[in-house]
Amino acid sequence: MNLILLGPPGAGKGTQAKLLQDRHGVAQISTGDMLRAEVRSGSEIGLQAKAIMERGDLVPDAIITAMLALRVTKPDCARGFILDGFPRTVPQAEALDVMLGEMGLALHHVIELKVDDGALVERIAGRFTCASCGTGYHDRFKPTQQPGVCDVCGSHEFVRRADDKAETVAARLDAYHRQTAPLLPYYAAQGKLKHVDGMADMATVSGQIEAVLEGQQSLDSGVGRA
Ligand code: ADP
Ligand code: ADP
Ligand code: ZN
Repeated sequence: MNLILLGPPGAGKGTQAKLLQDRHGVAQISTGDMLRAEVRSGSEIGLQAKAIMERGDLVPDAIITAMLALRVTKPDCARGFILDGFPRTVPQAEALDVMLGEMGLALHHVIELKVDDGALVERIAGRFTCASCGTGYHDRFKPTQQPGVCDVCGSHEFVRRADDKAETVAARLDAYHRQTAPLLPYYAAQGKLKHVDGMADMATVSGQIEAVLEGQQSLDSGVGRA
């Protein structure tokens, strides 16, 4: 099963991709996580990407597609993958189609998480992650059970992303609307686009995604919201 989760920054792509990975044994591929690892390691890609990411712009297509092409050949992708944050431009989507064609792989669903811009700002502002195991949290919507202690690994160290500050979020939303939203008609034309109400709570969103995977949602039908 090969899926794309599509949606603006903060829509819940990473949260849902992790749940899908746990439930279905497919690999979560987050190009944002991969780029942040490159920045941390000080690699050539990381050096090129750092300033671009801090501005809230998109990293050039050629860098991203080369990174992705290597990633999908890794053994953990044998049962399929969930693309979280890729593609983000029409040229990236076209490159993906070519790549999958050459590998003889299908793209089964493109699932759009629909969330209002106003809600995204609050989601992004409250987002934090365990520095040790990477589990994602939210100040209001998914706090740790004990204050300051990771539920999963017990670590006391947490990180907030440098680009999750208010000034950068506006640029990221703008990049989404200008460069990524054109992927919606692109995948609708391929008959692959499904919609999920990303404003619902995490468990409800997850249930809606499972319904899509079980084929209970008709092609391109909206769930509840236009
Ligand atoms: P994305 O990967 O699309 O940028 P995340 O999965 O990181 O989004 O979610 C952004 C923030 O919102 C995180 O702090 C996450 O815990 C929280 N979140 C995710 N899904 C929901 C939801 N359905 N309702 C409320 N908060 C959510
Ligand atoms: P979010 O979870 O908020 O949607 P990501 O973690 O996916 O954000 O991406 C963070 C940043 O990394 C983006 O703002 C962009 O600069 C860069 N990036 C990630 N994926 C891509 C991509 N497919 N194409 C171009 N830039 C990307
Ligand atoms: Zn942890």
